[in-house]
Amino acid sequence: MSLDASNVLLVEDDPQQPKLLAALLQEANISVLHAATAVDALGLLREKQVDLVLLDLGLPDINGFELLRQFKESPELQAIPVIVLTAWNSLADKLRGFELGATDYLTKPFEPAELRARVRAALRARKLQRELTQANRELTAARIVAENAARAKADFLANASHEVRTPLNGVI
Ligand code: CA
Repeated sequence: MSLDASNVLLVEDDPQQPKLLAALLQEANISVLHAATAVDALGLLREKQVDLVLLDLGLPDINGFELLRQFKESPELQAIPVIVLTAWNSLADKLRGFELGATDYLTKPFEPAELRARVRAALRARKLQRELTQANRELTAARIVAENAARAKADFLANASHEVRTPLNGVI
């Protein structure tokens, strides 16, 4: 499945990472936006269309887990997949990440090809989910149109039979 051009938001305070990831993901038609703090990340998410978040956990202003929790509690943001990308490699941290709603969890140092493959997999899943949501919306709209038509027809028939009956009632 080919992917459309996508925007990934990297939330990461290490200044080396954005360039590295931009170079790594560029060939997969993915642009990298960058936020060095949680505050910047939330600002960018309000302004831009973001298809996926790559989230570091050791951030200067907030623990990345707390930011992940905020994302997943926000009705506007919760559908955006989040891949945790961190040096924190304990099992407890990984489990906590998934529990808070992370789509995937990658530890640093990472294999570039693996990171790209996981990002693409998450973007594919997101795309399918969007298409499904869109198809459901269209089905619902079609159902409402059909129901309205059926109701109009029933009303018309009820009125018609009433009009037919009324003069007859007079005769009888
Ligand atoms: Ca960090």
